[in-house]
Amino acid sequence: MIQVNEPLLNGNEKKYLNECIDTGWISSEGPFVKQFEERMALSAGRKHGIAVCNGSVALDLAVQALGIGVGDEVILPSFTIISCAAAIVRAGAIPVFIDADATTWNIDTNLIEQALTPRTKAIMVVHIYGLPCDMDKVSAIAKKHNLYIIEDAAEMHGQTYNGKPCGGFGDVSTFSFYPNKHVTTGEGGMVLCNNDAIADKCRSMRNLCFIPERRFKHEELGYNFRMTNLQAALGMAQAERLDEFIVKKRTIGKLYDELLSSLKNIVQLPLTTTPYADNIYWVYAMVVNDNIPLNAQQCMDELLKLGIGTRPFFYPMHQQPVFKKASWYTPQHLAVSERIAEKGFYIPSGLAITTAQQEQVAEAVHKLFSTYK
Ligand SMILES: *Cc1c(COP(=O)(O)O)cnc(C)c1O
Repeated sequence: MIQVNEPLLNGNEKKYLNECIDTGWISSEGPFVKQFEERMALSAGRKHGIAVCNGSVALDLAVQALGIGVGDEVILPSFTIISCAAAIVRAGAIPVFIDADATTWNIDTNLIEQALTPRTKAIMVVHIYGLPCDMDKVSAIAKKHNLYIIEDAAEMHGQTYNGKPCGGFGDVSTFSFYPNKHVTTGEGGMVLCNNDAIADKCRSMRNLCFIPERRFKHEELGYNFRMTNLQAALGMAQAERLDEFIVKKRTIGKLYDELLSSLKNIVQLPLTTTPYADNIYWVYAMVVNDNIPLNAQQCMDELLKLGIGTRPFFYPMHQQPVFKKASWYTPQHLAVSERIAEKGFYIPSGLAITTAQQEQVAEAVHKLFSTYK
C-alpha cells in the first residue's frame, strides 16, 4: 500500500527531541518554541510568529485578533477546508463564499468585488494545493475598499508570489504543521504578522489571556492553544530542510507530469507554473474531465484496490450541511467548486515517496483510465 502522504523525519528530529527529554523541557515554555517562531517568521519575511497547537486555531486567532465579529462579513473561497469558514463563524461573523478559478483551483479573484457589501471587513485568501492566489489583485481590492487580508498559507511554506514569500502577505497569515505540510510538527500551527499589537493579542489569546501583572487573573477569555517544546523541536529539524523539501516536492511533481502527460485528454493535471509562481505541488492533484463517466470516489475506490492511497478534493463550503442550518445561509450555485469537488482527487506525493513508488502510482492511474484512452 502506498500512503497518500509519508513525511520525511530523517534529519535532526531525533536529536532535538532527545534534547527536550534530556533537559526536561517539554512544555510550551521550552526554548525550541521561540526558535521555531523566529525561524518561520524569518522565512515568511514577518516580524512575529506565534506558534499554536494547529493550523485551524491559528485561523481562529487571526480572525479574532483583527477584531472581526458580529455583523461583519468575510470573503473567502468556497473551495477550502472547514477551518477557514469555522474561524469566521465562531467569531460571530458571516462567511461569504466565492467560486474557484478552474485552472488554479484558487479563489476566482474576478468575483470578489461583486460580493462586497458595507459589512465586508476582510478577505481570507487560501493558497490551494501548491500555487499561490493572485495576491497583487487581492491586495489592490483590499486597499481600495479598506479591507483586512488574512492569508491562509497552510499549504505554502517555501512558496513565493512574484518572489515574495507566502505567509508574508496581508495583515495576518497562518501556517499549519500537520504531517502532510512541508514542515511538520505532528500537529501544530502559527500566526504570522508584522503588527506588534496584533501579535501581543494572539500571544495573550493563545495563553488563556493571563494578564501580565497577576497570573491567574483575566480581563478577557482566551484559549490554551500553546505549542509544546516537543512539537517545536520537530519543527526546527524540519524547517532546517525547507529549501531541500521544496526542491524534492518539485521533483516529485515533475516526474508525475512526465509519467501522466499522455492522460491530458482524460484528466486535468496541476498547472506547472503561473505568471507569478512555479507549482510546489503541496499535493499532486487531478480533476477528471467532464466527458469521462467517473467521479473522484470511483477513481479512488479503484486505486485503493491497486494499493494506492488517495484523498478527495475539499467539499465546497457553500454546500456544507452544517452551514445549511445557519441563519445566515443562502443557497448558492458555484459551478467550478462543485465540479472539482466531485471530480478531483490527489495521489501519493509525500516527501518520503520514492521514484519506484511514483512509477507504481502512475501505472495504477494509467490502468484506471485505460478504457478511456
Ligand atoms: C491543513 C490546512 C489547515 C488546517 O490545519 P490543521 O493544522 O490541520 O488544523 C488550514 N487551512 C488549509 C488550507 C490547510 O491545508
